[in-house]
Amino acid sequence: MELILLGPPGAGKGTQSKFLETRYGVAQISTGDMLRAEVKAGSPIGLEAKSIMDAGGLVSDELIIRMIGERISRPDCAKGFILDGFPRTVPQAEALDKLLHETAVDLDAVIELKVDETVLVERISGRFTCAKCGTGYHDSFKQPKQAGVCDICGGTEFVRRPDDKAETVHARLEAYNAQTAPILPYYKAKGRLYSVDGMAEMDDVQAQIEAVLRQIGVAAG
Ligand code: ADP
Ligand code: ADP
Ligand code: ZN
Repeated sequence: MELILLGPPGAGKGTQSKFLETRYGVAQISTGDMLRAEVKAGSPIGLEAKSIMDAGGLVSDELIIRMIGERISRPDCAKGFILDGFPRTVPQAEALDKLLHETAVDLDAVIELKVDETVLVERISGRFTCAKCGTGYHDSFKQPKQAGVCDICGGTEFVRRPDDKAETVHARLEAYNAQTAPILPYYKAKGRLYSVDGMAEMDDVQAQIEAVLRQIGVAAG
């Protein structure tokens, strides 16, 4: 299964792709997570990306395309992948087409999570993740079952992203509207675009995505 989850920051891409990774046995690829790992490691890529991410802008297409090209050629992608946060510009979508064409792989679907801006701001401001396994939580919508302990790995340390502060969220939403939203018509024209109501409860969004996948004949792995 080759799937793209598309949507503005805070729409639920990470939440849903983590679930799909387990359910369908394919690799979740988050360019945001990859970039944060580079920043943490202090690598040349990280150094180039950090100030742009902190300001809520988009990292250069060239850097991202190189990173993705390398990532999807790894063995864990043999059964497929879910792209979370990529592509984010039309040139990135075109580069992905070229990469998939070279490996004779066909994209199954692009699923758009539709969420209103006021809700996005609320979701982003309450977001935190387990420092050890990356599982996502929310102050109001998804607390760990036992306070202070990760449901998945038992970790007790949690982190908040520096770019999840109110000042940066605005810039990120603008980047989405100006640079990322134009890829919706690109995939629509290819007959690959499906939209789901991302405002619904997490389980319901999950069910909507599974319904799309069933409709196009993708079975759980
Ligand atoms: P994205 O990867 O698109 O930026 P996330 O999956 O990280 O979004 O979700 C953003 C925040 O909103 C997280 O704190 C997550 O727990 C919460 N969240 C995700 N989906 C929903 C939902 N359907 N309803 C309420 N909160 C949600
Ligand atoms: P969110 O979960 O809020 O959608 P991500 O974790 O996907 O955010 O991305 C965080 C930041 O990393 C972005 O604001 C941007 O600076 C950078 N980034 C991630 N993916 C891309 C991409 N495909 N192209 C350009 N920049 C990216
Ligand atoms: Zn954890």
